[in-house]
Amino acid sequence: MTLLNGKEIANQIKDEIAAEVGEMKIRGEKVPHLAAVLVGNDGASLTYVGSKVRSCKRIGFESTLKHLPEDTTEEDLLKLVSELNADPDIDGYIVQLPLPKHIDEEKVLLAVDPEKDVDGFHPTNFGKMALDMQSFIPATPFGIMELLKRYKVEVEGKHAVVIGRSHIVGRPISILLSQKGKYSNATVTLTHSRTKDIKALTLQADIIVSALGVPGFLTADMVREGAVIIDVGITRVPDASKERGYYITGDVDFEAVSKKASYITPVPGGVGPMTIAMLLQNTLLARKRRTRE
Ligand code: NAP
Repeated sequence: MTLLNGKEIANQIKDEIAAEVGEMKIRGEKVPHLAAVLVGNDGASLTYVGSKVRSCKRIGFESTLKHLPEDTTEEDLLKLVSELNADPDIDGYIVQLPLPKHIDEEKVLLAVDPEKDVDGFHPTNFGKMALDMQSFIPATPFGIMELLKRYKVEVEGKHAVVIGRSHIVGRPISILLSQKGKYSNATVTLTHSRTKDIKALTLQADIIVSALGVPGFLTADMVREGAVIIDVGITRVPDASKERGYYITGDVDFEAVSKKASYITPVPGGVGPMTIAMLLQNTLLARKRRTRE
C-alpha cells in the first residue's frame, strides 16, 4: 500500500509556486493577491481561512482577509463582492462557505467575477470545466486530480465510484475523472444518498472517492483488493482528551481499508492540504491570465 501523502505534495506545489513568485519579484512584476471573505465566526471556517492566509504569506503572495460580522446583511456582502470585482489589485478571491442562513449563497456566488473566482464555484467556470475549456477548477477536486497525477496512479480505463454529489466535490470530481485526457479517461459512477446498494458498486471500483462526511462510512468489506481510496471527508469528532476538544476523521475506516488498498489518502494530511495548494495555484493562474490581458 502506498500512502498518498497530500501534505508532502502540497508542500512541493507551494515550493514551486514560491519559486515562481520569487522570479516575478525579480522581474519587478506584481505578485498574486488573494482575498478571502469570511462572514461570522464558524470554527471550521476560521481555521480554513486562517490557514489559507498563512499559506499566502509563506509563498510570497499578498493576502487580504475581509472578516465581517455574523449579522452582515446580504446587501453589504454583495457590495463588498462588487468592490473586490472592481479592485485591480485583487487577482482572485474566495467567499468562505457556509454563509449565515439569512444570506442567499447562490446570489453571492453569482455576483463573483468569474475571472476572479479562484474557488471555481461560479457557473461560468463550472460550465467551462464540464466542456473541457480553460477555467478555474474547484480546489478540492483539482487537488485530487493533481495527487493522482503526481503519484502516477493509473486512471485511464478504470472504474471510479464517487460517493457524494455536492457541487464542490462529488459532482466536479466525477466530471474531471471522466474527461478525455492522459490523466483521466475513467468510467465514473456517481453515487449519493438515494443510491441503492452502494456496496455493490464500490466492490466493482478500481478507484473510490468518498466525499460524504460520514465517519467510518467506507468499510473494508466494501472495497476490493488493490483499490485506490481517496478520502475527502473531514469530520470534527468531539474529544475532551484533545487540546482542541476534537479530532479530525475521514469517511474511511483507514485501519482496515488501508490493508486492502493499493493507494490511500490519510485524514488529516491527504486531500485537505491539496485543497489549499490548488487554491494558491488558481490564484497564480488568475494573476498570469490578468497579466496577459
Ligand atoms: P455535502 O454537500 O454535505 O454532500 C454530501 C454528499 O454525500 C451528498 O451528495 C449526499 O447525498 C451524500 N451522502 C450523504 N450521506 C450519504 C450516505 N449515507 N450514503 C450515500 N451518500 C450520502 O458535502 P461536501 O461539501 O461534498 O463535503 C463532503 C465531506 O468532504 C465533508 O466531510 C466535508 O467536510 C469534506 N470536505 C473536505 C474538503 C477537503 O479539502 N478535504 C473540501 C470540501 C469538503 P444527497 O445529495 O443525496 O444528499
